Amino acid sequence: MNTESDKDRFLKEFGDDYGYPKAPKNIDEIRATEFKRLDGTVYLDHAGASLYSELQMEAILKDLTTNVYGNPHSQTDSSLATSNIVGEARQQVLNFCNASPWEYKCIFTSGATAALKLVGETFPWSSQSSFMYTMENHNSVLGIREYALSQGAAAIAVDIEEAAHDSGSTNPASSHKVLQHQMQRRSEARVVDEELIGDAYNLFAFPSECNFSGVRFNLDLVKVIKQDSERILEGSSYCKGCWMVLIDAAKGSATEPPDLSKYKADFVVISFYKLFGYPTGLGALIVRNEAAKLLKKTYFSGGTVAASIADIDFVKQREGAEELFEDGTLSFLSIASIHHGFKILNTLTISAISRHTASLATYVRSMLSSLTYENGDSICTLYGVPKSKLLCKEMGPIVSFNLTRPDGSWFGYREVEKLASLSGIQLRTGCFCNPGACAKYLRLSHGDLLSNIEAGHICWDDNDILHGKPTGAVRVSFGYMSTFEEARKFLNFIERSFVLSLSHSPLRTKYIHLPTEGFERAPSRYYLRSITVYPIKSCAGFKVDSWPLSSTGLLYDREWLLKSMSGEILTQKKIPEMCYISTLIDLNLGILFVESPRCKEKLQISLNSDLFMSARDGMDLHVDRSPERLPWTANSS
Ligand SMILES: *Cc1c(COP(=O)(O)O)cnc(C)c1O
Repeated sequence: MNTESDKDRFLKEFGDDYGYPKAPKNIDEIRATEFKRLDGTVYLDHAGASLYSELQMEAILKDLTTNVYGNPHSQTDSSLATSNIVGEARQQVLNFCNASPWEYKCIFTSGATAALKLVGETFPWSSQSSFMYTMENHNSVLGIREYALSQGAAAIAVDIEEAAHDSGSTNPASSHKVLQHQMQRRSEARVVDEELIGDAYNLFAFPSECNFSGVRFNLDLVKVIKQDSERILEGSSYCKGCWMVLIDAAKGSATEPPDLSKYKADFVVISFYKLFGYPTGLGALIVRNEAAKLLKKTYFSGGTVAASIADIDFVKQREGAEELFEDGTLSFLSIASIHHGFKILNTLTISAISRHTASLATYVRSMLSSLTYENGDSICTLYGVPKSKLLCKEMGPIVSFNLTRPDGSWFGYREVEKLASLSGIQLRTGCFCNPGACAKYLRLSHGDLLSNIEAGHICWDDNDILHGKPTGAVRVSFGYMSTFEEARKFLNFIERSFVLSLSHSPLRTKYIHLPTEGFERAPSRYYLRSITVYPIKSCAGFKVDSWPLSSTGLLYDREWLLKSMSGEILTQKKIPEMCYISTLIDLNLGILFVESPRCKEKLQISLNSDLFMSARDGMDLHVDRSPERLPWTANSS
């Protein structure tokens, strides 16, 4: 009932179809007929990978099973069919970005990363060049730095802020300013050769949408950099020469592809699974013809070569064609399948997809920001959203955040992720391969980052809080088939797991916390390094940053044990495989979850019942309340 009225309010604000008024099917029909496999799953990781429609896959299967596609480098009929379909696919990609084929080429790659690598590898770097990039960039863009630095060029990270638009100026340059920049160079001595400076080529790279925060960059930046780089870099000497601009549209293009007739970037990279789920392993570099001429291709291969002689140093590369940059045989069956994906986007229309996804993100952002504890403190810290712009439709469909407890300490993102997964909600946590945005939004200084690395933190690990600060965030992101119900289930989960029970929980319960101050400041050599709760004796435990205490130690620690059917108490000493049984307690749900790689289903044990539970499916064990509780010992190291 509550959900019903929430939905009514939502629809009142965003329209009955929230985005798809003219589509042949409404969103509920799309979900019921084309995404049957989701069935209750709440999929909120479209920035990681979007989902393919089941009808799209049927169409692809039919296409591939009725047509004969041969190697495009052969001269057969089937080869011609492939060449035609590859040509049409290139055109479709250019159309998607409103790029004229007279001005731009579409080069197929194995993904956005491969397209970025191709630019880095072939860019005409010199010791006079600069590679400048915004803080908010994917690692795959940052990697271009290695090519630049190895050629003696400078690499400069900039934090660009858009000033208020009300200046009344028509010059787009005046609406941007650089907040700070960080420059690096590998060899100390810069080759000073004044004559060269005029010829130097520089590259500026930014994402159309930040995959960490959802912040969309104003594409006027293309013009600003090309025409006014000196002003934006405040006259520093790194901005001489010719500037080329690269847009990483891998995330942004799913809901707002760049319009290349208006913003004439030199390079744009996209990835198809981010647009419509399938195929994976295929992306494109859209390159301005003028810029393509400057690229220096070293490697030659089947496909890229016009002529070569095996036993002498002679090679003639293909000229002017996309194929010069496409080593080997294209992934032509994948390429043949992209028009089935584009068909969906074009039928719904990108503008409708953009409205649809924006309505969901806007709703989730405003609901999360309204969550407060009884003392009025916000529960949720949103990243990249200016407070006044919560309803900002210019943000991409990403909501990135961390949660805090009533005492101000942070919930680790891993905890949020694990609990979400238990509720059937798929979201992403960490830094999302975007270390610059992560450091910027989480306010992690170089000192913080280096001491986290020293403490052993690497991408993908479980160190979600270090020195009292989060090392990453929780991200939910929406795609064209996302629904209000998914957004609502996610919000219900947050409210149920982090808000309601916490604000009503007796705050008198004593908690033990990992130190929130950097441990270098701790007065003693001993500090609490980690807290692990082992609810079931001899099974795997789980790590927390904070946990309630009971009279015997950590609440629920070694509260249960396993017995065989004959009543024998089982321990790891007797059965080493017990270490594979993992446990997790959700205090708010009041449930102990038990998982074993041998069982499909998770066992759920209510914390409030004293009943012993017999396990289902193949786990012929009893879980009993443990008679003897071991005294809690602090793990000081
Ligand atoms: C996903 C993504 C990439 C990498 O794309 P791949 O095709 O997986 O190589 C690069 N940049 C951004 C912004 C992305 O979201």
